[in-house]
Amino acid sequence: GDLGVLDNLVANTAYLRAQQSDRSEFRRRRLSLALPKPKNLKSQETLVKQFESLCEQQPIGKRLFQTFLTSNPQYFAAARFLEELRDWRYAEGVSRNVLQKKIINKFCQTDSRNFLSFLTGEGAEALENLSEDNFEEVIGKIKEATTEFLKGKPFLEYLESPFYYKFLQWKEYEKQTINDKYFYEFRILGKGGFGEVCAMQVKHTGQMYACKKLHKRCLKKKGGERLALLEKRILEKVNSLFIVNLAYAYENKTHLCLVMDLMNGGDLKFHIYDLGTRGLRMDRIVYYIAQITCGILHLHSMDIVYRDMKPENVLLDGKGQCRLSDLGLAVELPKGKTVCQKAGTTGYMAPEILKQEYYRTSVDWWALGCSIYEMVAARLPFKDLREKVQNSEVTRRTLEDAPKFEHKNFNEPTKDIIIRFLKKKTEYRLGCSRSGDDPRKHAFFKNINFDHLEVGMVEPPWVPKSNIVYAKDMREFKDISEEEDVALDAKDETFFKEFSTGAVPIRWQKEMIETGVFDELNCFQINGHGYETAKS
Ligand code: ADP
Ligand code: MG
Ligand code: MG
Repeated sequence: GDLGVLDNLVANTAYLRAQQSDRSEFRRRRLSLALPKPKNLKSQETLVKQFESLCEQQPIGKRLFQTFLTSNPQYFAAARFLEELRDWRYAEGVSRNVLQKKIINKFCQTDSRNFLSFLTGEGAEALENLSEDNFEEVIGKIKEATTEFLKGKPFLEYLESPFYYKFLQWKEYEKQTINDKYFYEFRILGKGGFGEVCAMQVKHTGQMYACKKLHKRCLKKKGGERLALLEKRILEKVNSLFIVNLAYAYENKTHLCLVMDLMNGGDLKFHIYDLGTRGLRMDRIVYYIAQITCGILHLHSMDIVYRDMKPENVLLDGKGQCRLSDLGLAVELPKGKTVCQKAGTTGYMAPEILKQEYYRTSVDWWALGCSIYEMVAARLPFKDLREKVQNSEVTRRTLEDAPKFEHKNFNEPTKDIIIRFLKKKTEYRLGCSRSGDDPRKHAFFKNINFDHLEVGMVEPPWVPKSNIVYAKDMREFKDISEEEDVALDAKDETFFKEFSTGAVPIRWQKEMIETGVFDELNCFQINGHGYETAKS
């Protein structure tokens, strides 16, 4: 009835407004926030092995280590050198040459204030030989030697400094127990097999997320507990711009909750079929497939097979970049290990799955071929849109037929990449043979700079409108029948505890930095060569 329409409107308005909320509103709410004292200090010996994690991978750790270095005259040059090298790496054309010259003058001249005088042996030799002609080849060695240097004395000194103490305070704060009160909840965005996904906002930072709720009793009844834990473990392990990352895992009385990047631009299936013209513009297809390819390569590099590649599982964020989502079918298969379990969606499953042969990562490239085809033609290669056809017939066509390219939008490189991904034998399939058949090198991607794409530096060809909710009307998600007729026991409780690990360090630390909480709670004032904390 009319009330339903109004409810939907109100929910949409609240959701859209939350996304545009003013950061200063949240600042008021956290004025009283102070970092806790760290417990359980670890010995230096165990820490030395963790340089990468402490100073490179964890965003807050990285920031604090850099602040330590730049506030220390001895290490200032090393820190600035690495910073400027990063700028150079992603610069293009003239500015790249300018930065190159600047790096040589600033860090490689013995009479310069920032000369990298700490380098010895091969590093020092490389530094001495560096010129504009051999810059690209030699600079890598100097960078490595610099990092090696930082891992030594500077790192040990850092571990004794107030900066590292601050890091431990953040780590203590990171361990806080997360519950429903930590978030505001907004409208439902979608529905999954064990419950709904809704939009959420962290109360004290304003950060928006999507929360996938898994109904505990429903999970138990349908035997999904083990799979839910597997999905959570895979999600927390990945850290990629092209995969929906996990920020928190927690529980309440009725649900297990996975809090992930909010993708408010809708899924690609919706964009292919539900927005008037069927299919997508070619520049968008190339951009999305390039990002998806990076996502798949990231998973494969961690020995994870996705197994559910299809446009429906690719979600767009507010800027128009896409990420893979729904890792519920993903499996971890260490090198050499294979499975033959039938898994995936009809129309996207590779011949080797359908024949119940042993497989590994090859199945994702097949499904990617099907997905490119679908983005162009708004149908699958072996199944027409809404065609009533038995699964066995789709299987027969998948095993026997060649894809047809009747749609006018197929151009040569697109046809070619699809044909290569749809090779029935895995040894001929793009992405699957051992020796250098990197899909990123295919002519289909000739306009994509993957170095830039991988750090989010390529502008999306299409941006979702900020005043539109790219999700089905809320009323379509109503009448969720919740199974209440199973009892939960101690074993279930143990499993729920194992699942509810709270904040995921890298993603959480990013949130603290991006929302300004880090700078607020943490300002070190650097005066002269010493340092002191702002609030002491
Ligand atoms: P299931 O594994 O149970 O199918 P999904 O992970 O596919 O659950 O989520 C169900 C639906 O919720 C998706 O189809 C999508 O519409 C929506 N959804 C899932 N994750 C997000 C997200 N990160 N941001 C926005 N919407 C999402
Ligand atoms: Mg799903
Ligand atoms: Mg799933």
